[in-house]
Amino acid sequence: MGTTKYIFVTGGVSSSLGKGIIAASLAKLLQARGLRVTIQKLDPYINVDPGTLNPYEHGECYVTDDGAETDLDLGHYERFLNVPTSQANNVTTGRIYQSVIEKERKGEFLGKTVQVIPHITNEIKERIQILGNSGDYDIVITEIGGTVGDIESLPYIESVRQLKWELGEHNSLVIHLTLIPYLSAAGELKTKPTQHSVKTLMESGIQADILVCRTEHELSDSLKRKLALFCNVEKEAVIQSIDATTIYDVPNMMLDEGLDKVALKKLDIKNASDPNLDGWNEFLARHKNPSGEVRIGLIGKYVELQDSYKSILESFIHAGAVNEVKVKVKSIHSEHIDASNVNELLEGLHGVLVAPGFGERGVEGKIEAVRYAREHKMPFLGICLGMQMAVIEYSRNILGLEGANSTEMDEFTPHPVISLMEEQKHITDMGGTMRLGAWKCDLEANSIVGKIYGDIHIEERHRHRYEYNDAYRDALEEAGLRATGINPDTGLVEIVEIPEHPWFVGVQYHPEYKSTVANPHPLFVGFVNAAHQFSKQ
Ligand code: GLN
Repeated sequence: MGTTKYIFVTGGVSSSLGKGIIAASLAKLLQARGLRVTIQKLDPYINVDPGTLNPYEHGECYVTDDGAETDLDLGHYERFLNVPTSQANNVTTGRIYQSVIEKERKGEFLGKTVQVIPHITNEIKERIQILGNSGDYDIVITEIGGTVGDIESLPYIESVRQLKWELGEHNSLVIHLTLIPYLSAAGELKTKPTQHSVKTLMESGIQADILVCRTEHELSDSLKRKLALFCNVEKEAVIQSIDATTIYDVPNMMLDEGLDKVALKKLDIKNASDPNLDGWNEFLARHKNPSGEVRIGLIGKYVELQDSYKSILESFIHAGAVNEVKVKVKSIHSEHIDASNVNELLEGLHGVLVAPGFGERGVEGKIEAVRYAREHKMPFLGICLGMQMAVIEYSRNILGLEGANSTEMDEFTPHPVISLMEEQKHITDMGGTMRLGAWKCDLEANSIVGKIYGDIHIEERHRHRYEYNDAYRDALEEAGLRATGINPDTGLVEIVEIPEHPWFVGVQYHPEYKSTVANPHPLFVGFVNAAHQFSKQ
């Protein structure tokens, strides 16, 4: 294919309609037809990135190889496409303004008044085209966060309008995702909100090319015709997106509705092959026909909001399919765990995962959960803060270091087994200053991780400030908590294991960011397998 073509995905009527999943599903179908596709998310909020946002605000913060702290939709993009994303795949209003203001300070606008149009819109258009201009993609799908009509979305919508015009016919298209509500009292699906939302988009000068309609009930032919007529789109460009039992069904549902075909037709792409979804469908078949079940306790402090641990939950789905078991995740609030109830709360589980996190709240409950898993020889996976809790638990209960802690929780602990590195000590800014992105790690060949990775040189993504304190390494190793993964450049301990335990692994990095449908993460696969063995005891 020649130049890159662009697909814009906007949303109307309501938020949370699943633009990210629709974008990822369309991308999957186009990829299955042999095209090189990437997806970008534009977020209209003023934070420079979601790294400083509380998970209750915005769900999980997803991290890319290049250390960008991004929207969780990028996780879906990677899980669906199995292609890494980068900083260029997520842009916020904060980042746009930051860069325009920096240019203004440098005098790059040559004395002009700096305005939303054209300076902010030019910056947005540039950010959209960076991916296309790289030459790596036939198609770039850009998802515009928010809902049309929102004040903060306006510069993005205007940028899309301009780009559509500049790119010319057949080089871009706009998909508008809307909701068709069902009024049970009237027994009817209602199209009016969609008509209004398409009209709002038109007021900004954009005619939607394709409508994807979220609905709880099938859209009849006549309803599709009505939508087509009133929204000025072709009938085959009215695509139904009915509620799915799993997000992994959505690509096939979009295939049945012909979303990929309409998109290719509108973009005038004639050389795409028939879609090959063999690998995807094999995964789905295994996911939907488990032959057993394992129960894993997810110990975290943001468990009320499922989105906080999105990548972990999805990694369990991938690993469950490999092991042909259903992974039932029991979320347990770490603040509710103490020595008196831990047995009752964790009994009957087959594995314990202590989740990442920040700050003091709930850490003592996490430490109790680690102790339970260690003492009951129950498979344990500690991720980031979860690994740090495992080191603290071992220091307190096996080494007898009373009050051992991370300096994040207790600045004056007598035993700072987890502490800040020198270079982190003087940092005062919160945004983008953690150890972020992909870092190398060398594994001990004869360890759990050495065996399950199938390679002793790995690279995993990080997002933390505090580190395993090397001053305690000899004592911890002697007492049986082995350091089995080391950063070859810095010597930092990245993985701990207990060889005396059937499966006890703590990792300073986030394996969940790298698990995809095509490439389930070995640590999750190994952990679920260990939990399955445990369930048979
Ligand atoms: N709060 C810990 C740190 O900053 C762990 C972070 C995490 O779990 N992502 O080191």
